[in-house]
Amino acid sequence: MPLDGLGENCGVAGVTSPGAPAASMVYAGLLALQHRGQEAAGAAVGDGLVLRVRRGLGLVTEVLDEEKLRELPGTVGIGHVRYPTAGGSTLANAQPLLGITRSGEHFSLAHNGNLLGIDAAGPPGDPLGRGGRARTGSTDTQALVDHLASHPGPLDQALRELLPGVRGAYCLVLATRSTLYAARDPHGFRPLCLGRLPDGGWMVASETAALDAVGAEFVRDAQPGELLVFQDGRLRTERFAAAPQATCVFEHVYIARPDSLIGGRRVQQVRQALGAALAREAPVAADVVIPVPDTARPAAIGYARQSGVLYAEGFVRNHYLGRTFLRPGDAARRQGVRLKLNPVPEVVRGQRVIVVDDSIVRATSMKQAVAMLRAAGAAEVHVRVASAKIAWPCFFGVDISSREELIGHSMSAAEIGQFVGADSLDFLSVEAMSDAAGSPESLCTGCFTGSYPTGVPLEADSRAG
Ligand code: SF4
Repeated sequence: MPLDGLGENCGVAGVTSPGAPAASMVYAGLLALQHRGQEAAGAAVGDGLVLRVRRGLGLVTEVLDEEKLRELPGTVGIGHVRYPTAGGSTLANAQPLLGITRSGEHFSLAHNGNLLGIDAAGPPGDPLGRGGRARTGSTDTQALVDHLASHPGPLDQALRELLPGVRGAYCLVLATRSTLYAARDPHGFRPLCLGRLPDGGWMVASETAALDAVGAEFVRDAQPGELLVFQDGRLRTERFAAAPQATCVFEHVYIARPDSLIGGRRVQQVRQALGAALAREAPVAADVVIPVPDTARPAAIGYARQSGVLYAEGFVRNHYLGRTFLRPGDAARRQGVRLKLNPVPEVVRGQRVIVVDDSIVRATSMKQAVAMLRAAGAAEVHVRVASAKIAWPCFFGVDISSREELIGHSMSAAEIGQFVGADSLDFLSVEAMSDAAGSPESLCTGCFTGSYPTGVPLEADSRAG
């Protein structure tokens, strides 16, 4: 669970089918991606003649009911679930957004990630354009729409010319009245996968769990720097830029669903491997290993198997709180922890407890969790974190916004342990985390190391420092 209130980034899906309604498949895909954002949702579908969009604030089921889906006929569609990492939480920032090119082509765009700038001449007043500053009040997606809309040529050409100059993290899906486009940034920060529908159509999505939801077969990951064009039943692809791959290691640690494949690895298996590595690096004499549910469950299982210490469910999580408690903000987080988690006294009473979490950002929630375990009778509480210490902000779409908010920036593991009231606290090393998650050279570990795969803006850097 997001015990520290860490923000997910967004999720996108795109579908093109020879005959089946795209809206229902986009809807199913978005339901499978709901964990990536609960603030807003939407879909846009083209029927060859008209491109229609429905979007709003709330969960997928609240925004896209049966009536709304009926209002979206057509076989080409895209969808989005939003967690606000840039821009405010307003209806205007819900996606997909609509645009129209100077040649009169209607399009709809949805985007996952965070842009650092666009090296291209843009429309007047463009905040992300050449010489502009990063991280503005408007969404990155609107900046992309404005750039494409101001281009004098066809959309194909506009995308080819724009994408190489877009800096930062993005996976985008774009639908016209009859064509689907998808693109992944040159570093491949955020995941994007390609699947084949049973009827011969295609689907792209942030995670393979969305493909599973519609019975699509996983084909491959979109390559970093790849543009995919789905037109007239055919797929054309091209690499528009090449750069060292740097997929977010945090997708494995926390963001993605455990049943998804990221970079060819099942996230659940990776999380178990993280937990096993943690048991090797940070052992402690104990009677029981418990997870902070749900995200840390596979890591706790891995820790227990490796250490031989009994595994048990020592916390029960309330799954029915609604998105109010998933919203960003310290007050909501503090209020939410006690309602989210409840210890099981019979599991922890008189026991030396190892509590495994996926990550620590602010540690205020872990402090409450430790206090709850002690109040329930735990004899000792040892916190083990199945990722390295986060000490730096993320500029690529995950809501870790400033170093001041990060307890790992100013405190050692031992000091954080004291702060949360634990008998001991330890993190996994960056090396072991990267090894468990894939090839270390193809991962971004910026928020753990301060070493980013690409330059970060001066303004953001000094604000972070
Ligand atoms: S800085 Fe951290 S959260 Fe952001 S992309 Fe890199 S690994 Fe992921």
